[in-house]
Amino acid sequence: MSEIAPATALNSAKTGQICDQCNQDIRTGDKAIAYATHYVADGWVIRRVWCDDCGDSIIGTDTDGMDEVVIDAGTLRNRLVGVTTIDRSRPKNELTRDDLSRVLHQR
Ligand SMILES: [Zn+2]
Repeated sequence: MSEIAPATALNSAKTGQICDQCNQDIRTGDKAIAYATHYVADGWVIRRVWCDDCGDSIIGTDTDGMDEVVIDAGTLRNRLVGVTTIDRSRPKNELTRDDLSRVLHQR
């Protein structure tokens, strides 16, 4: 489980220069949508970057229990700026608030 909020960790992350889907240039000032996965060893890693037209606002695929996010950002010289998390898939084995209160009340 990650300690740092993904939007914070991914601010100023490198984006690459083109959309992964349509190959359109992503230039300074363009909006970008990116998909990132959290790895214990590496922290948040950008997996895909799309232009505003191609970007998906939800995590549509099975994430194999990984902590993953879709973010929305502006770009400045191929870096993400003003990152906002728009969807997140947390690991399935992570305790939810309800699980936690159930466990606590069993004691
Ligand atoms: Zn595109």
